[in-house]
Amino acid sequence: MIVAIDGPAGSGKSTVSKMIADDIGFIYLDTGAMYRLFAYKLIKENVDMDNNEEELRILEDLNIDMKNGKFYLDNEDVSDKIRSREVSSGASKVARIKEVREKMVDIQREFSKSKNVILDGRDIGTVVFPNADLKIYLNAASEVRAKRRFEELKEKDKNVNYNEILKEIEERDYHDSSRKESPLRIADDAIVIDTTDFTIDEVKKKIKNLIITKGEGKW
Ligand code: C5P
Repeated sequence: MIVAIDGPAGSGKSTVSKMIADDIGFIYLDTGAMYRLFAYKLIKENVDMDNNEEELRILEDLNIDMKNGKFYLDNEDVSDKIRSREVSSGASKVARIKEVREKMVDIQREFSKSKNVILDGRDIGTVVFPNADLKIYLNAASEVRAKRRFEELKEKDKNVNYNEILKEIEERDYHDSSRKESPLRIADDAIVIDTTDFTIDEVKKKIKNLIITKGEGKW
């Protein structure tokens, strides 16, 4: 069974997806982390993100891996490093490149073959798995999403500023939904859940019930 969970940054997708997958024994694939790994590699190698040729050369030899909730680049665990703000905006930049998307989508489809998987991202229900068994679109007001990110980042960085986070989230929303390749949009058959006024546990319960109802007899 394939469950697609899409939505903008900070809508709660990854937290909820991971919790549900653990709960019902599904595999969880965080597709955003894949774009982050590539962006991190470019930053590490000092590659200009506007130099397409150089980016594609690096893409060809990209060595990424995901195991037990950890993310590896060239066999190094970079799970924390890929969560920085610099990597977030870098990921949104590289995600516009057609060849990058094609490679990531191939990996996502291959990975999900004959498995019960929850994938979260921007294009899962529209492009990666247009025939997914269940499609959810999670949304929330940008101020609420920025507040969630702010609280998360504040624990690691005392100088983080809410207004800057809000600006970055809105910029990322704009780029992700206005790009030519696989823009963020709601699939026609997706169930939209606005998480603005819900706790993580409430959202988790809703989606878990939908999966159980839809998946009856499928796993
Ligand atoms: O979900 P997350 O914030 O980790 O994603 C980082 C960036 O990767 C997004 O802003 C988006 O540009 C890109 N992305 C994408 N397609 C996906 C997942 C993420 O374009 N399926």
